[in-house]
Amino acid sequence: MIAIPPITLEPQPGQVAIRWLGQGGFAFRSPNGVVWLVDPYLSDYGQERPAVRLVPPPIDPGTVLCDAVLCTHAHSDHTDPVSLKAIAAVSPEARFYGCDEAVATMRDDANVAPRRIQTVVVGDRNTAVRGMRQPLSDVHADVVFADHSGDACGFVFHVGDGTRPFRVYVTGDTLYHPGLVSDATRDVDLLCVCINGRMGNMSAGEAARLTGETGAKRVIPMHYGVMANNTVDPATFVDEIARQGVQAQVRLLGIGESWLLSF
Ligand SMILES: [Zn+2]
Repeated sequence: MIAIPPITLEPQPGQVAIRWLGQGGFAFRSPNGVVWLVDPYLSDYGQERPAVRLVPPPIDPGTVLCDAVLCTHAHSDHTDPVSLKAIAAVSPEARFYGCDEAVATMRDDANVAPRRIQTVVVGDRNTAVRGMRQPLSDVHADVVFADHSGDACGFVFHVGDGTRPFRVYVTGDTLYHPGLVSDATRDVDLLCVCINGRMGNMSAGEAARLTGETGAKRVIPMHYGVMANNTVDPATFVDEIARQGVQAQVRLLGIGESWLLSF
C-alpha cells in the first residue's frame, strides 16, 4: 500500500492545515510538518454490526502516513480498530494517544504495540504530539474534560514554535457542561464542536452556546453526515450562531475538505 499524508496542504510558519475526515475525525499538519489525526473513523466498523454510512470514508486508512493519532474515547466511531490497525501498519513510526479505555481498544482490538501507545488523562498539559522517532515537535496537547462516556476527553492543541501558538480545541463527543469552559479551552483560535444532539452529544444550540462561552475565533461543526442513524443538518448550527449573536466565524467543511488557516 502506498503511504501518503492524509492532508496535502503544506502550512508555512504561522499557518496550520486541517482536514475534516467526517464524524469527529480530523487530520492536521503543522508548519514543521507534523501530521496528526484525531478520531479517524475510516471504515464501517461497529461494535455490534457494521454501521450504515451515508458517505464512504474520504481516505483509505491503509494509505495514511502520519506521526500521531489521538482518540477521545473508546466508542467505535472514534477509536475504530479497523482504521487504527491499518494506520499502525502503514505508519510504523506513528504514536497513539488516548485515555485508558481507548488505549485498551488500541492495544487489544487494533493490535497497536504497547510501546507505541501513550496513555493520557484529563488534566494533562503540554503533552508533545510526535512520532516515535521525532525528538521534538511543534505540536502539544492539553487533555480536557468531556461529559460523555467513561474516561472520554477533548484535546486542545498548541501549534507552532512562536511565542503565540495557534490553539485548536476538538471537543470529541460531549454533552453541554459548564466545565467545558476553562483556561485551557478559552479564546481558542479554532473550535471543532459536536452538534448532533443525540447519543450523549450536545445539540446545535448548545454547541453555539459553548462557542460563545469559549470565545473561539473560528468554529467548525462536526459529528454529522456520516451515520444514517445519528446526524443533523449543520444549517441549524449556523442559524443558532446567528440567533445567539455569537461572534465566531463559522466554517462548514465538506467531508474530506481541507482548510489552511493563518495565525
Ligand atoms: Zn461519536
